Amino acid sequence: MPDKDIIIKGVAASPGIAIGKAFLFENDDFCLVHKEIPQNERKDEKKRLNDAIEKTKAELKITHDKINGILGKNYAQITNVYLLILDDPSIRKDVDKFIDEGVNAEYSVFMVIDKIVRSFETIKDDYFKERILDIQDIGKKVLRNLLGKQRTTLASSNEDSIVVSHNLAPADTVAIKEKLVKGFATDIGGKTSHTAIVAQGLAIPAVAGLKVISSQAKTGDTIIVDGNKGEIILNPSAEILTKYKKECDMQFAKRKELEKLKDLPAETIDSHKVLIFANIDNPDEVQSVLDSGAMGIGLYRTEFMYFNRKTMPSEKDHFEEYFKVAEAISPYPTIIRTIDLGGDKLTRMGLLSMKHEENPFLGLRAIRLCLKYPDIFVDQLRAVLKASAYGKVKLMYPMISTLEELHEANRILEKVKQDLKKEHIKFDEKIEVGSMIEVPSAAMIIEAIAKEVDFVSIGTNDLIQYTLAVDRVNENVASLYDPLHPTILRFIKRIIDESHKAGIDVGMCGEMAGDPYYTPVLLGLGLDEFSVASAQIPKIKRVIRNISFGNVQRIAEEILKCGDRDSISKIISTIQMQ
Ligand code: PEP
Ligand code: MG
Repeated sequence: MPDKDIIIKGVAASPGIAIGKAFLFENDDFCLVHKEIPQNERKDEKKRLNDAIEKTKAELKITHDKINGILGKNYAQITNVYLLILDDPSIRKDVDKFIDEGVNAEYSVFMVIDKIVRSFETIKDDYFKERILDIQDIGKKVLRNLLGKQRTTLASSNEDSIVVSHNLAPADTVAIKEKLVKGFATDIGGKTSHTAIVAQGLAIPAVAGLKVISSQAKTGDTIIVDGNKGEIILNPSAEILTKYKKECDMQFAKRKELEKLKDLPAETIDSHKVLIFANIDNPDEVQSVLDSGAMGIGLYRTEFMYFNRKTMPSEKDHFEEYFKVAEAISPYPTIIRTIDLGGDKLTRMGLLSMKHEENPFLGLRAIRLCLKYPDIFVDQLRAVLKASAYGKVKLMYPMISTLEELHEANRILEKVKQDLKKEHIKFDEKIEVGSMIEVPSAAMIIEAIAKEVDFVSIGTNDLIQYTLAVDRVNENVASLYDPLHPTILRFIKRIIDESHKAGIDVGMCGEMAGDPYYTPVLLGLGLDEFSVASAQIPKIKRVIRNISFGNVQRIAEEILKCGDRDSISKIISTIQMQ
């Protein structure tokens, strides 16, 4: 046991405590050693290099054929760039030269790649930037084969694993879902990155933004993930381990206690009722939604269907999933949000052939993508409408930033409805249509938007990042990502008041709604519906059932007069719970 516990601080991404064994995922940081190769072994060393190159070529051929089968010749040509690098005689000559001088093959490859990358880095040109990535990637492939390393997959993780990684893309977390693990710890990412959201949905403790965890932890190390404090403890002492085991037991007992609230209404002590809905991104979550006592689904993130698949989802694929969810949740509503791809939710395998963007969060994302590629949008709309015949389905558009976008989306929806009618396909002709309010420009024209939709839902994850200019996935600015910034609270107030004037309800489906610390404030501001990860529902309900609406309304008024965060926190600390 070490003398001192290694505590690494990061960003609290999903609450709870988990104790398990580290499982290093997709670690491409090889440990390369420089070895002297004797004269008589250099020929064999070159053969070893040759074999690794041939193996890499064979792997590329498989990738080429896969892409060719799915997306066609043009996309498959991507692999040709890699083959060209592998066959480049000048690169090969440089590597051989090092081996002739007695350097081992791994280190020779590393030195040549490093030299090329450094020289390309001095050229300020987008083309060369892209090539650097290609060269680094192909270098890693060859090195992996030279070292006989496999790319790790989650297949060998288990229920005792804490997945440790530099980063986890949404596509990885989808795979993790199928392989229940105990926790996550990542070098990068913030509280509302989609990896964090998935962890919250699965009620798995997670800490992001740890910067060094993937280089410090080894597979098999004991690790404690404290998702409440936002820190991890690597190879803890027996004393700390005992302390945390006790906390885990307490956590479990608390959860059992909260489960008793399941069938009780979300009602304050002075009888003000609100709705508590669940967020999902996969039909498999329906059972936990039903178990949590949610009164509907306030956000169904449909873009997750696009990850880890080889072909675009068809109308039938969409329909089958929506039907399953809507029917199971009925008579409660299911709010299906049209795809929100882009930002940190990029597809792999070139689905949608999304080009690299410098600022993907400000780029072709969500409704913008759907309006640019109406065929994809139409497939989804047809499926949503068809599912509306089997349950209480509502439709919601993400990332609306202008009224024109809303008009255009509704125009396409109208056309799809007409087509279905012509085809004599049943659907709910009065399907409610809502808009997410998650871009400051939408919050400022809420009066106009509210007149044209049946409901709105505030997406604080994005509203905060776009309003405060703080990247939601960047751990370096995580401390600036503040839901209680006076501007955010004023936006929320404005959205609620103007929507109520137009006679429509306001929900919130960003992570702010799922943190019990903010519940009194949101309730006091007049929020009608909280849509949160299923695991958070009892915690939010407990707060609501123990406060007075009159009291939190007065507190919200006070808070809105504040211009700084400290004054707001002080007022919140005065809130009385029964
Ligand atoms: C949000 O932005 O708050 C939201 C709910 O959408 P997403 O997290 O999927 O961007
Ligand atoms: Mg959003």
